[in-house]
Amino acid sequence: MNLIDTRARGGGAGAQGPEIWFRAGTERPGLFPGLARVMEAFFAKHRKRLPYVHAAMFVAFLVAIVLPLFLPLPPEDATPLNNFTVAVNFAFWGIWFPLVFLSVIFTGRSWCGVLCPMGAASEWANRVGLQRQIPRWIKWEGTPIVSFLIITILGQTVGVRDHPLGIAEVFGGTLFAAVAMGFIYGRKKRAWCRHACPIGLLLGVFSRLGAVQFAPKSKHPGGDAYAERGICPTMISIPRKEESRHCIECFRCVKPSSPGGLFLRLRAPGEEVAEIRTHNPNAAEIWFLFVGTGAALGGFLWLILPSYQTWRMALGSWAIDHNWFWVGEAGPWWLMSVHPEAREVFTWLDFTMIVGYMLGWAALLAAGLAAATGLSAWLAGRFGGDSTFRARFVELGYQFAPVAMVSLLIGLGGKLFDTAVTAGVPAAIMGDLKAALLAGATVWGLVLGGRILARQGVSLPARFAALLPGLAGSLFVVFSWWPAVAGG
Ligand code: SF4
Ligand code: SF4
Repeated sequence: MNLIDTRARGGGAGAQGPEIWFRAGTERPGLFPGLARVMEAFFAKHRKRLPYVHAAMFVAFLVAIVLPLFLPLPPEDATPLNNFTVAVNFAFWGIWFPLVFLSVIFTGRSWCGVLCPMGAASEWANRVGLQRQIPRWIKWEGTPIVSFLIITILGQTVGVRDHPLGIAEVFGGTLFAAVAMGFIYGRKKRAWCRHACPIGLLLGVFSRLGAVQFAPKSKHPGGDAYAERGICPTMISIPRKEESRHCIECFRCVKPSSPGGLFLRLRAPGEEVAEIRTHNPNAAEIWFLFVGTGAALGGFLWLILPSYQTWRMALGSWAIDHNWFWVGEAGPWWLMSVHPEAREVFTWLDFTMIVGYMLGWAALLAAGLAAATGLSAWLAGRFGGDSTFRARFVELGYQFAPVAMVSLLIGLGGKLFDTAVTAGVPAAIMGDLKAALLAGATVWGLVLGGRILARQGVSLPARFAALLPGLAGSLFVVFSWWPAVAGG
């Protein structure tokens, strides 16, 4: 990550690229230039109204996480149409999660810039807060990965998908952390969104696959840079912007009539990943892709695989043999699900097992995907690929983005599919749809992997060999998630 002061950024010297179309009055680059122009003009014109949208979302968000805490438990036959608590649960897991995920492919991180109440609250707090320098531990590339693991695992142990208290704790806690970090750190910035938000990290990685790009009209050389003094709330140096992942699409740097700033460009999904070497590839992002997918997988599989119960019994017996009877006691409500009224009380044994199982899957998947990527990168080098092993490894790691994204959608956004079944769509058709999505993502990953290898200078016949480990890695992910497909 380059650190620059935007006051000192270069002038026109060395500027290159898309400014030619703007100054010459020719057609804007990218797909559907007319549509891109209309979208850009609309949001640039109405950008100042976004705070009203954020305020409305903030109120709705608070009502959704707080009100169910004061309502009686929903009856067994309650539906989203006749019970507020069930409706909130459905809104989070049946609508918000899958649709935000899917929207990244079509509109990038539009959720972050246009709708998210947490990021907006963090920025509001920042205006009235202490505005301290952002410390190095927050800027560390691993911070959002740790934050993702904590939130994902805590979500499982407190039952975020089933209990209003779990939703309130996980989402309320995230909101509190966003506001607190905004209040303390940064100056007119969103330190939380750039450095710590677990959702932002997820959306950022997959926004690289998206069809929307904000590109500089006047591109300065030197690669992507970190700028704490510019207009961008997520500290992107506007004229040097190359990657999509930190752009929350707030439209502050977009002025259609100006020769500077960014312009909205539509592109084929996956373009940025195929050309990743010119879009600031990042090793931490790859490790997140591997580890995060594995943790999410573990969070799904512990509920259904017999191996979880087998190991739980074994650990429980071992603990009793050693007089560790406390493992059978319930822990604090903020760490694990303690809901006797809903016939669910987790003990320290459950807590330990869930955490261990999720971290175990995270380690297993990360090891498998790293081995596959490493083999691909090694083969690419043997077949004439340029650059270092590490650079090839990082670039090739992105080939797993499609399969990781679809598997997360199917596993964690499963309520959307369940609802379709409840609404009358045959379960077999939903199962086929999930299988088709996974197959499509695998093929997409192969195509992207092939294009990455081509950019590395690997010849066409050799690319097939270098793609085989990538195919094995994708199939490993697909078959690990298969119980979610087979389950309907
Ligand atoms: S990064 Fe997180 S808090 Fe910030 S806008 Fe996106 S989802 Fe919201
Ligand atoms: S690059 Fe522009 S649109 Fe993207 S977050 Fe920064 S200011 Fe907003």
